[in-house]
Amino acid sequence: MKQKTNIHSLTLEELKNLAIKLGYPSYRGEQIFRELWFSARESFASMKQIQKGFKEYLEEYYSFEIFQSHNILKSSDGSVKFAFTLFSGDVVESVYMPSASNEDEDEGKTSRKTLCISSQAGCGLDCKFCATGTLGLLANLKPSEIAGQVKICEKEIGEKITNVVFMGMGEPMLNYTNVEKSIKILSDTNITKISRKKITVSTSGVTPGIRKLSKLKPAVKLAISLHATTNGVRDKIMPINLKSNISELMNSAQNYYKQTKTAITYEYIPFKELNDSDEDAKRLAKISKRVPSRVNLIPFNDISFTSPVGVAEELKAVSDLELQEFANKIRSFGGVVTIRSTFGRDIAAACGQLALSENKE
Ligand code: SAH
Ligand code: SF4
Repeated sequence: MKQKTNIHSLTLEELKNLAIKLGYPSYRGEQIFRELWFSARESFASMKQIQKGFKEYLEEYYSFEIFQSHNILKSSDGSVKFAFTLFSGDVVESVYMPSASNEDEDEGKTSRKTLCISSQAGCGLDCKFCATGTLGLLANLKPSEIAGQVKICEKEIGEKITNVVFMGMGEPMLNYTNVEKSIKILSDTNITKISRKKITVSTSGVTPGIRKLSKLKPAVKLAISLHATTNGVRDKIMPINLKSNISELMNSAQNYYKQTKTAITYEYIPFKELNDSDEDAKRLAKISKRVPSRVNLIPFNDISFTSPVGVAEELKAVSDLELQEFANKIRSFGGVVTIRSTFGRDIAAACGQLALSENKE
């Protein structure tokens, strides 16, 4: 039997079209959208404004529950990790961070409530420093499962999410259609829940995806996980570089800026004696000056719980002092640099640490 589509996977436009198809005015579709995403209804039955006949149709042809279940783990620093069990049994994680990091100087720190969401269960790209990569690709999330992480988190935390970052599990550009749809749901141009300017899609460098995303209007922010300034080093730690090398990646970043006029973030983990030399700082500054961008240095989060072997075993974090020095070096070459504050390290909820043991079993 064909599985029912989840009602949370429908964009505002699709809900309006559904209303029209069934002989209702289009605003009835908009009401459903509001009930789902603004009144945060938890069942078809609790959607107050919807007429009986329409509700019965929805109940017959669409599913409502987004996940089978979810668990919550609170960190001592205020961040909260959510583990969502999909109906397939796979588990994905999100991390809630109140006033996350110093990344956007243009925004007040205290008011920000950021959710770091997943776009896939596991990831097939095998970056050597990332725990999620050790799982391989398990599943592409549906739009309902991507946007739904925000809905469930808001309900549990009792706060509105203001910023979304696609920096949880998975490579968003390899589940592009569903990711774009989830962005449209969370950030419809007519009824905006979260501003597009406060949504960041992070990619390891899937260039066809970057091109597609550059056409989305209004634009979202793009973050590129660079982590190396030479192809030799990048090939070793990020196999995706063998498909699109640094210069191809730079071209798509340049094109993204041209299309969207949105500054780009280059994420970079300095590893001891691998990519942290003065020459690296110089090249990084040069890369970040091609179009308006900044470098966001990320301290390497420990992944020893994955029992790393080969290249992964060799990767060592630089000290805090070395991280600061590296940042200053990039600045001295004219680059704009921020340093990411880490959240949730005590509950393995920091960037690159998402790889639930349940998934491995
Ligand atoms: N697949 C996308 C988004 C998910 S990873 C991407 O790679 O960009 C989110 C961010 O966490 C990326 O910048 C990634 O490079 C970073 N990351 C992965 N493992 C990490 C680790 N162990 N420590 C710190 N950051 C890590
Ligand atoms: Fe996948 Fe991103 Fe992890 Fe690389 S860093 S394995 S692309 S989730």
